[in-house]
Amino acid sequence: MAKEKILILGAGLVGSLLSIFLAKKGFKVEVFEKRPDPRKNDVLGGRSINLALSDRGLLALEKAGVTRNLDQVMLPMHGRMIHQLDSQVHFQPYGKANQAINSVSRGLLNEYLIGEAEAAGASFRFEHKCERADIDNSVLSFSTGGKPKEYGGDIIIGADGAYSVLRASFLHSDRFNFMQDYLPHGYKELNIPAGKNGEFQIDPNALHIWPRGKFMLIALPNIDKSFTCTLFLPFEGESSFEALDSPEKVATFFSEVFPDTLPVIPNLIDQFFTNPTSSLVTIRCYPWSKKRSLLLGDASHAIVPFFGQGMNAGFEDCRLLDEIIDAEYPNWETVFQTFEKSRKPNTDAIAKLANDNFIEMRDKVADAGFIWQKKLEARIHEKYPDKWTPLYTMVTFSNMPYSKALEQGNRQESVMRKIREVYPMSTPPEAIDLEKIVGWLD
Ligand SMILES: Cc1cc2nc3c(=O)[nH]c(=O)nc-3n(C[C@H](O)[C@H](O)[C@H](O)COP(=O)(O)OP(=O)(O)OC[C@H]3O[C@@H](n4cnc5c(N)ncnc54)[C@H](O)[C@@H]3O)c2cc1C
Repeated sequence: MAKEKILILGAGLVGSLLSIFLAKKGFKVEVFEKRPDPRKNDVLGGRSINLALSDRGLLALEKAGVTRNLDQVMLPMHGRMIHQLDSQVHFQPYGKANQAINSVSRGLLNEYLIGEAEAAGASFRFEHKCERADIDNSVLSFSTGGKPKEYGGDIIIGADGAYSVLRASFLHSDRFNFMQDYLPHGYKELNIPAGKNGEFQIDPNALHIWPRGKFMLIALPNIDKSFTCTLFLPFEGESSFEALDSPEKVATFFSEVFPDTLPVIPNLIDQFFTNPTSSLVTIRCYPWSKKRSLLLGDASHAIVPFFGQGMNAGFEDCRLLDEIIDAEYPNWETVFQTFEKSRKPNTDAIAKLANDNFIEMRDKVADAGFIWQKKLEARIHEKYPDKWTPLYTMVTFSNMPYSKALEQGNRQESVMRKIREVYPMSTPPEAIDLEKIVGWLD
């Protein structure tokens, strides 16, 4: 018997990876994407945009059998490079010497996954913007070139991002919960080009952070030796996008708060006023499935980017769904319910961790207490790896469920508070009785 026809909405990172898993299982997979084919069109308008790919994302890519050539599009970042206001820099490793997150081009990764999906048998319809999803009859409606078109399938999967059309159709059904929460901050991407000699202008082995309390700038390296910076700033208020309304104000602001970026961003003012300012949203909804339709990736759980986990979590969704299909197929109702029930606590956990990490990145990383605590944690982890693992390591360099990482992170955090009460920060981490501390966890 022929296997079902699965319609996937959205050929972004998650939709493309999912289409590989499903096509390899023998389903007839059709993917619909509103943008043109990125392999033939410059859909990002010439801008390089990158993201951090870490263990969860890498495991999913490996399980899908698509790690070939991946190292050609990614650059390892072994830690954070903190840029102080006085332009001094200091490096904080993310974990052990062999542990790194990887800066990868969003565009190249997406193109690569689409190519692999086609090779696996999935078909793509670009420039197909879905207007409506009929979840009772599993039909998607499009208006392509002004002409209405409909496509039917056996299963619909919405990987159509934070503003999902499939999710909008769920909103019209009974007993569907939905919440969206915008940060008061927005973001703007800026580019540090390669230097005159064609080389990186700042160290490419790190994720650079300019933490400034209520706002921050970060930069990740690209394989063309440029860096993509992201400025996170409140929309309104004293230091805000709204306040930076003239070239003079932008120049003054950067020279006051990010002075060491001025020599490496030659056309800052042009970029600042040309590149868009975008918002940051967290989406929570439940259930993720209705009849024979399922939401996946940002469509069901968009999060803020401060733990570098949105794509990684979406890729992990694909891997876990693939495993559940192996166990429960052809009972799609069980597949969907098992997936959403087991996954929801974990995506709620990473949503919380991502929000919390904004404060850590923009404020705490430059703090002497934070650095002391990180050193101490690394020592405890080295001596008692089964008892204590830094939260960052559990989230980024492991595949443990996010909810378990949050739970263990909370327990460690309360012990860390106790440590800070007992030991003054002048105590060298080497002088602290680790056995006693680990005992406080019980
Ligand atoms: C500034 C920033 C930095 C980030 N950094 C990281 C990071 O370092 N690491 C990380 O893991 N994650 C990061 N993320 C999160 C990551 O970008 C998302 O989690 C990821 O892109 C989600 O993939 P997706 O395929 O679910 O959704 P999307 O990437 O949004 O893809 C959805 C696709 O659906 C298409 N689509 C939408 N509506 C329709 C429609 N009606 N009809 C047809 N097609 C449609 C869109 O065109 C798009 O191609 C970051 C996010 C932001 C905003």
